[in-house]
Amino acid sequence: HLFAIARDITERKKLEAAVLESEKKIRSFILQAPVAMCLYRGPQYIIEIVNDELLAIWDKSFDSVINKPVFDALPEAKDQGFEDLLHKVYTTGEKYAAFGIPITLPRNGKAETIYVNLVYQAYHETDGSISGIVEVVSDVTEQVVATQQTEASEQRFGAAVEAVQGILWTNNANGEMEGEQKGWAALTGQSYEEYQGYGWATAVHPDDAQPTIEAWNEAVKELKTFVFEHRLKTKSGEWELFSIKAIPLLNKDGSLREWIGVHTNITEQKDAEEKIKSSESQFRTFADSIQNLAWIADAEGWTYWYNQRWYDYTGTTLEEMKGWGWEKVHHPDHIKNVIEFIKEAWKKDAAFELTFPLRRNDGEYRWFLTRGYPVKDANGNIERWIGTNTDIHEQKIINEKKDEFISIASHEMKTPLTTAKGYVELLLLSLKEENQTALYATKANQAIDRLNLLITELLDASKIQNGQLNYTITKFDFNKLMDETIENIQYSAKKHSIEKVGNCLKQVSGDRDRLQQVLINLLNNAIKYSPNANKVVVKIEEQDGSMQVSVQDFGVGMSRQHIDKIFDKYYRVQEHAIHFQGLGIGLYISNNIVERHEGKMWAESEPGKGSTVYFNLPL
Ligand code: ADP
Repeated sequence: HLFAIARDITERKKLEAAVLESEKKIRSFILQAPVAMCLYRGPQYIIEIVNDELLAIWDKSFDSVINKPVFDALPEAKDQGFEDLLHKVYTTGEKYAAFGIPITLPRNGKAETIYVNLVYQAYHETDGSISGIVEVVSDVTEQVVATQQTEASEQRFGAAVEAVQGILWTNNANGEMEGEQKGWAALTGQSYEEYQGYGWATAVHPDDAQPTIEAWNEAVKELKTFVFEHRLKTKSGEWELFSIKAIPLLNKDGSLREWIGVHTNITEQKDAEEKIKSSESQFRTFADSIQNLAWIADAEGWTYWYNQRWYDYTGTTLEEMKGWGWEKVHHPDHIKNVIEFIKEAWKKDAAFELTFPLRRNDGEYRWFLTRGYPVKDANGNIERWIGTNTDIHEQKIINEKKDEFISIASHEMKTPLTTAKGYVELLLLSLKEENQTALYATKANQAIDRLNLLITELLDASKIQNGQLNYTITKFDFNKLMDETIENIQYSAKKHSIEKVGNCLKQVSGDRDRLQQVLINLLNNAIKYSPNANKVVVKIEEQDGSMQVSVQDFGVGMSRQHIDKIFDKYYRVQEHAIHFQGLGIGLYISNNIVERHEGKMWAESEPGKGSTVYFNLPL
């Protein structure tokens, strides 16, 4: 029995020694292994043995990790899934191996992701039970990053090929197409056999084939980038235009490896260019064929284009004219006004009109009417200005002559008219004395009054023209003037009743007769242009610093486009001209009188509903 015990002890000792021996072996194996390794022991994965390679990957010191559970030593690794993996290996004994997996660890003071190949292998006791796990790690970050970069650059290349929307092909160092060329086959419909060597040239338009081959051979000979354009018969059978660029790829030793080329379809682009060219030439032909001088300026008014007529008329060049060069051909007496006006006009975004004299190539000045139109982009911002200048010289002279004639004629007519008026009044008197009916004489007298009014208006208009309309300024009660005027007009107005609303208690300073002329004109118009209505409303009110008067009727009215023009000399609304008599100068004179009193005149109107004409005077 004792012997048996002794044998047992010896056996156990032997066994222990064997175990010790094997542990020693594994320890030295791990410590000397050329890869990063460690042994975790027990279900807590105590770091029992770890070599310097692994410590380097962890960026930890030996003392900080040894004999500690791994997730105490490396708490950062805990939430990256390794715990489950270790657990699986520990409980099942199955080996775990992974390649290029990421681990994020604090290294060099910051979180860094590295890529590793990782093996977990169960560590078995002699009785077969699992008591730990051996870990083998190798850092493959560099390879992984390099692969990622290659993949990215391949992806980029793929995207680039798609992005150029061209057809990519390669030729060998001799400039021949070799092997399968999917892009080329898809583009031209040529078969593999057809495009090999110089076969591709048969897809090129017969007129372009020879020049293409010559240029290509030259590029191949000189190893320079090949740039060309030619027509190709595409798969659909259509001839389409392509631009080609091919680049020689060189080996490290400078010898030619292959050519890589791209065909880009430019048919549409060329068509669009052609269209632009033809529309541009159309525009130029058009611009040069018109009678007017024409110009284009940028949004700031910097003129950069004139039509040929401009240069012919002024005898200048673009060099002299561009920007603000046009100032040189304006009349010195007018240029200041023109510049002031134009500068204001550029600021607004509306069309403008202005008349001025321009110097002809022989030094003579002629009058022009310029019209500028803003050209806007999609957002409504002004892109440029387009303008025309129309020669209105003859017209202006004729108008001046007409004005002069009217002035003389009305003056001449005034004298015999005054004489006739005098005799008719005498006639009326003597008829009354003889108790005879004076109907005919009264009618003649009225006709003379009307004629007198017309001639007076004409004379006034020509006086305004020449700055000879004189004013006698006094202070007076406008309210009273208004009551008097209404009473006068009401006397001869059979159908309309004139209603007055409001009053003005302040004195007005101005020419009483001229202002009465304005009132008479507005009231007469209101009655004249509302033959089917029976009232006219006159409003007078005080507004801070001014007095506003309005005369409203319920008559024919007028459409928008006429409203601002009715104050122009001789302007009459076309539709009215057939039914109503007049010269189109009453409002011109009235507006002038109001302006001379530093007031303003304007109108509102709706066709069929009536009009209201306003004016104000400073108090
Ligand atoms: P006219 O002698 O022709 O009436 P005015 O200078 O007084 O000349 O007016 C100019 C034009 O304005 C007229 O021809 C007419 O077409 C229009 N007009 C003026 N007042 C009115 C109004 N109250 N209603 C409608 N149209 C008017």
